[in-house]
Amino acid sequence: MPLQRFAPTLFLLLLGLVALPRSAAAKARRPPNIVILFADDLGYGDLGCYGHPSIRTPHLDRMAAEGMRFTDFYSAAPVCTPSRAALLTGRLPVRSGMTSDRRGVLFPDSTGGLPQDEITIAEALRNRGYATACIGKWHLGHRPQHLPTRHGFDHYLGVPYSNDMDAAPGLPVGASGRLDPEIEWWNVPLLRDEAVIERPADQHTLTERYTEESVRFIRRSRSKPFFLYLPYTMPHVPLFASKGYQGKSPRGLYGDVVEEMDGSVGQILAALRKEGLAQNTLVFFTSDNGPWLPQKAAGGSAGLLREGKGSTWEGGMRVPGIAWWPRRIQPGHIERSLASTLDLFNTALSLAEAPIPSDRPIDGVDLRPLLFRTGPGARQSFFYYRGTQLYAVRRGPYKAHFVTRSGYGRDAAVKHDPPLLFHLGHDPSEQYNVAALSPDVLAEITREAAQHQAGVVPAMSQLEAVEPPK
Ligand code: MG
Repeated sequence: MPLQRFAPTLFLLLLGLVALPRSAAAKARRPPNIVILFADDLGYGDLGCYGHPSIRTPHLDRMAAEGMRFTDFYSAAPVCTPSRAALLTGRLPVRSGMTSDRRGVLFPDSTGGLPQDEITIAEALRNRGYATACIGKWHLGHRPQHLPTRHGFDHYLGVPYSNDMDAAPGLPVGASGRLDPEIEWWNVPLLRDEAVIERPADQHTLTERYTEESVRFIRRSRSKPFFLYLPYTMPHVPLFASKGYQGKSPRGLYGDVVEEMDGSVGQILAALRKEGLAQNTLVFFTSDNGPWLPQKAAGGSAGLLREGKGSTWEGGMRVPGIAWWPRRIQPGHIERSLASTLDLFNTALSLAEAPIPSDRPIDGVDLRPLLFRTGPGARQSFFYYRGTQLYAVRRGPYKAHFVTRSGYGRDAAVKHDPPLLFHLGHDPSEQYNVAALSPDVLAEITREAAQHQAGVVPAMSQLEAVEPPK
């Protein structure tokens, strides 16, 4: 064969030899997919793998058995709006203005929302080439400028605020906590991107539709890295389950709703396995705050933890936390280190090799050493805020309460001087004040609280601006 005829073949052959290892290397370097599954008002004690005796959650139990289950995982706030802002930005809500002492969350008449200069996980990951979707309850502002599509998400399907808002005229008293609610009692819209596609949203099928949309997004995005944020509308009241789950759970309607969410998690993990993506995807399941106790049988359980949603007692903020990543996370590990939803920001950005913003305080830490068991956890302390006020601080096993107040009781806030001190290892239910026995610990936590507060500059609240009455 003359050389000039052979040369192109030789060239292609050499190119192949060079190109092959490169594409393999590129594949190896592909950053992992991130999936955050976020329940609403699910308590610490509401899953089988966290000890619930009658709610059946085989898929979440399996996820925990195949992955890592946290015993001391905290949401960053005891109510919806600030908790969500903190998860997506890695910042305490007092710093972003997404909390308030007058209005705990955003309502349909609110005009504020997550400020444009906040950086969300979705924005940071989209800058790294990720496909991004928010499928579920947003609750960070429902005006167009505040929607997920303006905060880094390519796609959005879901309700813009809580499912008990937008009461229809003639709403029965106590309707949201009833065990026989009607769709028409609330005029909650369902949005696709920025357009309302259904109103009132058929809440019976929300979980089902979120799941289908998520599975479609996973399939569609399989060729590039993706970030899926799935904040379920349930089990926040009013409770609605689809036909296949209604009347099935020994725990009643609340159990039906949690079991349906469990089924949804099972479908999402199955889709990741089927698409061959499981070994390159971190899935994290948690809840935005503790159970809404005044809803009685329509609300959840914090297990042996004290109080629930709205409060800074453990039941308000300590929530289930399950991490899953086959072959990367050691199966069946129970992690007792402190960790928080705030940390998902740093963890997701680090996995995506996106820089952690250096122009603002970030309250999260990187969970990779814990997830991969390569070192100790970076979180030494946790700060419990109610609105803009620091109520309690945990350091190691000790928690000091400077102020206490029940989540939804009519009691006023009580200031404690000296603070109450509990050893959460010995006394997870916060029953036995040990302040007098451990003055040194109390002094150290008090110093740390003062130091922390000196570094916090509260932003103007986004939750207080409302439309003028019509
Ligand atoms: Mg909530």
